[in-house]
Amino acid sequence: MSEEVIKGPNFGFDTLAVRAGQHRSEEGEQSEPIFATSSYVFKTAAQAAARFSGDEPGNIYSRFTNPTVRVFEERLAALEGGDRCVATASGMAAILATCLGLLKSGDHIVASRAIFGSTVMLFNNYITKFGIDVNYVNLIDLNAWEQAIRPNTRFLFLETPSNPLTEVVDIAALASLAHDKDCLLVVDNCFCTPVLQRPIVLGADIVIHSATKYLDGQGRCIGGAVVGDEELVGKEIYGVVRTGGPSMSPFNAWVFLKGLETLRIRMTAHCKGALQLAQWLEQHPKVEKVYYPGLVSHPQHALVQQQQTDYGGVLSFEVKGAKREAWRVVDATQLLSITANLGDTKTTITHPATTTHGRLTVTERLDAGVKDNLLRVAVGLEDINDIKNDLQQGFDAIG
Ligand SMILES: *Cc1c(COP(=O)(O)O)cnc(C)c1O
Repeated sequence: MSEEVIKGPNFGFDTLAVRAGQHRSEEGEQSEPIFATSSYVFKTAAQAAARFSGDEPGNIYSRFTNPTVRVFEERLAALEGGDRCVATASGMAAILATCLGLLKSGDHIVASRAIFGSTVMLFNNYITKFGIDVNYVNLIDLNAWEQAIRPNTRFLFLETPSNPLTEVVDIAALASLAHDKDCLLVVDNCFCTPVLQRPIVLGADIVIHSATKYLDGQGRCIGGAVVGDEELVGKEIYGVVRTGGPSMSPFNAWVFLKGLETLRIRMTAHCKGALQLAQWLEQHPKVEKVYYPGLVSHPQHALVQQQQTDYGGVLSFEVKGAKREAWRVVDATQLLSITANLGDTKTTITHPATTTHGRLTVTERLDAGVKDNLLRVAVGLEDINDIKNDLQQGFDAIG
């Protein structure tokens, strides 16, 4: 039948990114095929019965397993250093499946205040409907995390670096705090990807991905993933996905697994461009302040150097002035895409106060450090001078 292309753990990151999880069929294909099939055929009634009872491993139906999806799952698990990965229809489906798989009525979770807006909505509007309590803390305040943990706390949830201010927390320290208190650490690793940061290796229990962002990297498909161990991810979370149905389509899995093959070289280029842009902005007379982990002025620059292999593709900055000046910059750019998405080859620019953070009250927004003059840029793969020139047109438009 099919033959596993590489076996064993003794390969470097770049080799795993290109080859892990591939099972070459009898056709001898070089590139992974897309298995566009909803169900699978059994040789006999007895085999069908054995598959359904679980006595014989193998495919039954693509909501449960699909060979193309499996390649993506095995490849991402290998890159994150986890035993098991479950692919999902979106990043939010990955978070939902994690909640449904790990939580029960009466449980409590603690989350960083600086997480993706839809995640906050999921926690506040839907998870709480099932008798689960949620508290939010300041990402970088380890003391606040500790104080917030209760006997019924099931997991801590965070993103690092945070969006849009790029604050960073010590994952290893928080993992040991969580484990001391008998709870789990869940890290949404969307901004860093395993190229820059491997939370499981640092002690986290679960890694979440929106594959929509850098894993695809070219703005084509929506998808997500959960990575962790056999017990939590292979049983609890996989059980939710195969039963509840937010599975990844084989076509999207193929796009993402191809994305993984170029992930490191893309991330290296995103990081290089972002650092150059951050340094340029920091010197710019029209700029008040720049938030980027790669700047020596970043308050946690030392921690970032120890925890990440590079600084990431996202930065934010405050324009001198207010919302009017910030909007002028956005509107005068011609190359940059005005969109809240990130992790694309095409550079994107966002005004967080009126988009990603627009639903917050003014106080909540200022507490989160999202001022009216803040802009976020997710640096793509264009020529960095063209990105600078485009932003310069924006600054010129302020007058
Ligand atoms: C986009 C995003 C998500 C949600 O992912 P979708 O694929 O859009 O569902 C979750 N977390 C972070 C950090 C994101 O940027």
